[in-house]
Amino acid sequence: MNRQTRPAEFGGSIPADTFTGNRALDIEEALVFEIGRPEVTGVDIETPADFSPRLGLLERKPGIGLPGLSEPEALRHYVRLSRKNYGIDTGMFPLGSCTMKHNPRLNEKMARLPGFADIHPLQPLSTVPGALALLAELGHWLRELTGAAAVALSPKAGAHGELCGLMAIKAALAARGEARSIVLVPESAHGTNPASAALLGYRVEAVPARSDGTVDAAEVEKHLSAEVAAIMLTNPNTCGLFERDVVAIAEAVHRAGAFFYADGANFNAIAGKSRPGDLGIDAMHLNLHKTFSTPHGGGGPGSGPVVFSAALAPFAPVPYLVCDAGGLRYVEHAGEAEPGAEPFGRLTAFHGQMGMFVRAMSYMLAHGGDGMRQASEDAVLNANYVRAGLQDLMSLPFGERACMHEVLFDDRWLEGCGITTLDFAKAMIDEGYHPMTVYFPLVVHGAMLIEPTESESKASLDLFIATLRDLAMAAKRGEKARFVNAPRHAPRGRLDETRAARRPVLRWTNPPPQLNEQ
Ligand SMILES: *Cc1c(COP(=O)(O)O)cnc(C)c1O
Repeated sequence: MNRQTRPAEFGGSIPADTFTGNRALDIEEALVFEIGRPEVTGVDIETPADFSPRLGLLERKPGIGLPGLSEPEALRHYVRLSRKNYGIDTGMFPLGSCTMKHNPRLNEKMARLPGFADIHPLQPLSTVPGALALLAELGHWLRELTGAAAVALSPKAGAHGELCGLMAIKAALAARGEARSIVLVPESAHGTNPASAALLGYRVEAVPARSDGTVDAAEVEKHLSAEVAAIMLTNPNTCGLFERDVVAIAEAVHRAGAFFYADGANFNAIAGKSRPGDLGIDAMHLNLHKTFSTPHGGGGPGSGPVVFSAALAPFAPVPYLVCDAGGLRYVEHAGEAEPGAEPFGRLTAFHGQMGMFVRAMSYMLAHGGDGMRQASEDAVLNANYVRAGLQDLMSLPFGERACMHEVLFDDRWLEGCGITTLDFAKAMIDEGYHPMTVYFPLVVHGAMLIEPTESESKASLDLFIATLRDLAMAAKRGEKARFVNAPRHAPRGRLDETRAARRPVLRWTNPPPQLNEQ
């Protein structure tokens, strides 16, 4: 047990009134380097008799300095750290756009089946027909749900999927002998959209939204030219609103010879209801870790398959599966592609996130088509329930109309209270909630974006709404201390985020650096 108090520079304004600095089971956990003893080892293996190092001049002379702990000490250290983490299994996680939905345990059980869990990416294909069949079926249902012609399963996150989609667009333009230079991105877009376009050398041009928070086809038309390679549009958008001009936008983009990339992070609002392919979309990533319930946010890796329209399908990356008269064939190299296909290359070393594919497939099969549709409807219903429960106290930037799967508030309602969006979010931590997404999208001042997802019961939504109402009324009464000093009941208090960003301390040193020097 560590006898120490919380250092003030780590937001430790909370006086610990116990001898240890701990608060019951909330144990003040030091870093593993601070509790470990380099001379101690938790394993007991004799040096093999004929051991001779074979690394020549690369041989290490001094000790490696790893912190040594006994097995129970190591176990306790990591279990205690894990308890400091807020996750979807601890409570409601209303982070807008991120879709922190429940991770069904059935998915975990399926992913642990030895035939999926114990295979190796370098195993001969002939030994993994079941895994290939799962990839083919997952791809089939993703295409079915989106109305797409082809799918690339290998991208490892949404942002990686954006890169994949834009690379296919670039290859399709190159095949036409064109090298267009501009990608249009609405102002409300997620930061990864302009970043992905810039990474490929495109110039990003922002398209402003109209006053109702959606993009106007006429405005897009003004920005279109022979230099525009693509538009990247999120639908429903990051304000939680369905882009009602989406078909007109797709038509205008295609008339200009450009492609329509849809950011599919919000597909969980429309899965089973509308198919992006029918709306004229050429490429779209699907965040399996959002829409299809695979764990993320510290719980597991992302997975961002991309679906393609017929126009882009020939340029999809390897590897991919072909199902023809000869059965299932896995195309791993561009040279093996069928006539007419011109894969732009390969995006990842292996095949993608197999464990996440199994979980997403399990989620789809457990729900069925009607269940997927209901999950979307319930996600939208829950967000509107939260909107209706709070709109008399908190301000809605685009009026009291129905939203999709997330509800966006701004900070006009806090005017004159001396309390900011950040203070309000931090106060939610003291009440036991992970805050909503704040200050995104950027188009709304002091944004608070709440996405309850379909996972939450009415009882849990009622409790959440009641808590936010209590906090909102306390803010309006001017109870500043509750907000500006929050969080007061977390392992760490308010951090100096500006300083952490400007002067990050990225290495552990002994003794630790003096953080309070200017
Ligand atoms: C989450 C998200 C992304 C990026 O997805 P990652 O899987 O985190 O890379 C892109 N756009 C929107 C709107 C998102 O919500």
